[in-house]
Amino acid sequence: MGLHIESFSLGPLQTNAYLLKGSEEGKAIIIDPGMNPAALIKRIADLEIEAILLTHAHFDHMGGVDEIRKLKQCPVYLHTLESEWLDNAKLNGSTRWPQVTGPLTTDPAEFDLADGLELNLIGETFTVYHTPGHSPGSVSFLCGEHLFSGDVLFRLGVGRTDLPGGRERDLIHSIQHTLYSFPDEVTVYPGHGPRTSIGYEKQRNPYVPEGT
Ligand SMILES: [Zn+2]
Ligand SMILES: [Zn+2]
Repeated sequence: MGLHIESFSLGPLQTNAYLLKGSEEGKAIIIDPGMNPAALIKRIADLEIEAILLTHAHFDHMGGVDEIRKLKQCPVYLHTLESEWLDNAKLNGSTRWPQVTGPLTTDPAEFDLADGLELNLIGETFTVYHTPGHSPGSVSFLCGEHLFSGDVLFRLGVGRTDLPGGRERDLIHSIQHTLYSFPDEVTVYPGHGPRTSIGYEKQRNPYVPEGT
């Protein structure tokens, strides 16, 4: 069967939220429900949401968590290194751009993510890869040949590293040693912008030097 993927561009920063369905009828998970999730909420009316997975805790990726978690009673998964960010508006960045949003907070995540963890959800297996650099607890999720890369790797771009806990050296290392170790045909679904593939980025991404 495989994964069925729908994307929603949410909020003022056009953050990609992904609604995923697998082999279990009527169930879905959401990766990164961003701000102003009305379109997504409308779409999930008849679905059981098994989990909300966060690639990291920046406000533009977690802005819709509170509303969806309350509506669907679903648990949230986030890397341990950002476990204090959801209820801290300074850490999640929402106090930094007052012209974009007021402070955003929600309760802490129910489950901690760590590198190598395998999550069995919606009848599929998602492997967690710790890919720090854009933020300390950034993770990527791999399910078959689908990679959800958050703000680590974009089509012809990479995540910024000037926010708290960001580090360029870590970001490049995460891409070269973790993401680029996946087969060329793996499709990459980033946190912003269009999808791409590992092979395409390996050949053309101008921000990632070759080799180590
Ligand atoms: Zn981010
Ligand atoms: Zn983002």
